[in-house]
Amino acid sequence: MQSVNPATGEVLQRYQDHGPAEVEARLARAAATFPNYRRTSFAERSRWMARAGELLDAEKDRIGRLMTSEMGKTLKSAIAEAEKCAWVCRYYAEHAERFLADEPVETSASRSFVRHLPLGPVLAVMPWNFPFWQVFRFAAPALMAGNVGLLKHASNVPGCALEIEAIFRRAGFPEGAFQTLLVGSAAVAGVIADPRVRAVTLTGSEGAGVKVGEAAGRAIKKVVLELGGSDPFIVMPSADLDAAAKTAVTARVINNGQSCIAAKRFIVHERVYAEFERRLKAGLEALRVGDPAQDGVDVGPLATAQGVEDVERQVTESVRAGARLVTGGRRVPGRGWFYAPSALADIPPAAPAYREEVFGPVALLFKVRSADEAIALANDSVYGLGSSAWTNDPAERERFANELEAGATFVNAMVASDPRLPFGGVKHSGHGRELGPWGIREFVNVKAVSIQ
Ligand code: NAP
Repeated sequence: MQSVNPATGEVLQRYQDHGPAEVEARLARAAATFPNYRRTSFAERSRWMARAGELLDAEKDRIGRLMTSEMGKTLKSAIAEAEKCAWVCRYYAEHAERFLADEPVETSASRSFVRHLPLGPVLAVMPWNFPFWQVFRFAAPALMAGNVGLLKHASNVPGCALEIEAIFRRAGFPEGAFQTLLVGSAAVAGVIADPRVRAVTLTGSEGAGVKVGEAAGRAIKKVVLELGGSDPFIVMPSADLDAAAKTAVTARVINNGQSCIAAKRFIVHERVYAEFERRLKAGLEALRVGDPAQDGVDVGPLATAQGVEDVERQVTESVRAGARLVTGGRRVPGRGWFYAPSALADIPPAAPAYREEVFGPVALLFKVRSADEAIALANDSVYGLGSSAWTNDPAERERFANELEAGATFVNAMVASDPRLPFGGVKHSGHGRELGPWGIREFVNVKAVSIQ
């Protein structure tokens, strides 16, 4: 495995991946750790988790640089990601015990209640795009619930994977409570099938979701799938157009355009369409593209050579199918995997940009005549992760909240994950929820206890 700087294409470091013997040793350690770890108290686990949060806060600059060098996000956003990880550690350190407290239930027995017990070793298959956040939002609740974690991170971020393991160790968690498996995707099905692994969570593409879901199904194991999205961003005539257009630019290019909950399809009412397109174009063209480690850069490279090739193909084929290029539509010449912030409009249903997730800084514009049409178009996607709707009409807000097929609807704001709110999708965006009390209850045995 190797870390490659996407801004230059230069190999930064090579890592020896874990062969079958090392994977076996780590699985054995996870299984051996669990019986003791599950008996630790919430107070002990909270102390360790809070310490992990302190380490993340104290070392956010170094951690941020590691993320930027391996996957190209801007340094500012990488440091903010480390801070957000610290937040989720503190959040679960503080609230896990309450979220998992016994729940009394009245029955004919003298006493009945629900108890939430840990399951055992949980495998997390994670993506590179938020290389710390995706892992911490799984690990903080899972470890606080008394499970032990096994991380199979994306192959292009081995440095982040090992650093996360080190943070949990340094925070005081017992050896074996959280381990990284440096393996490729071909090894995942075997780990899922291993009887010592009790459940699995994947954040990644739809294709990986199908494979991991199949393997989990075959082994009859609980699985949470957090998959792709093509989030709608609806703009109605009553919206604050200035705020909507500014946020639209940020929401599309966040993480260099590689966020599952980035706004991808801009569905705009015809009364404000022309002005919105003009502002979005101007906003995209004003962005500074360049070395993500430099101050003042808004958009860095895509994380992989394959990523930039995929976006290039989707844009070229969409233009060929009849879409209009509003701006961009090309790679940035020179080293690294940069793609210019771009926008496409008048996209026909046959174009790849209409149906596929575009994982790069390309805004897709659609014009509609009514809220009905906006909702129908927004829902005309296999995905259903987030959605953003801009309107000051209370009736429209209600309709969007009720009728958009998505795991989240944010009104007059861009979609963002927050430790206090559930996060997840419907349709091909996956199933299960992370964060809040909902996330910590995904990987527990919800046990009925009834005492006659
Ligand atoms: P990816 O290619 O699916 O990879 C994600 C993880 O799955 C990696 O660890 C990868 O390992 C592994 N993987 C890939 N194919 C697999 C297979 N056949 N069997 C088992 N494991 C497999 O996705 P990505 O390119 O890293 O991330 C981008 C995708 O993730 C986008 O679709 C994005 O929307 C989605 N995403 C979703 C969320 C959410 O919360 N819903 C959040 C972030 C990203 P290797 O690296 O070794 O191939």
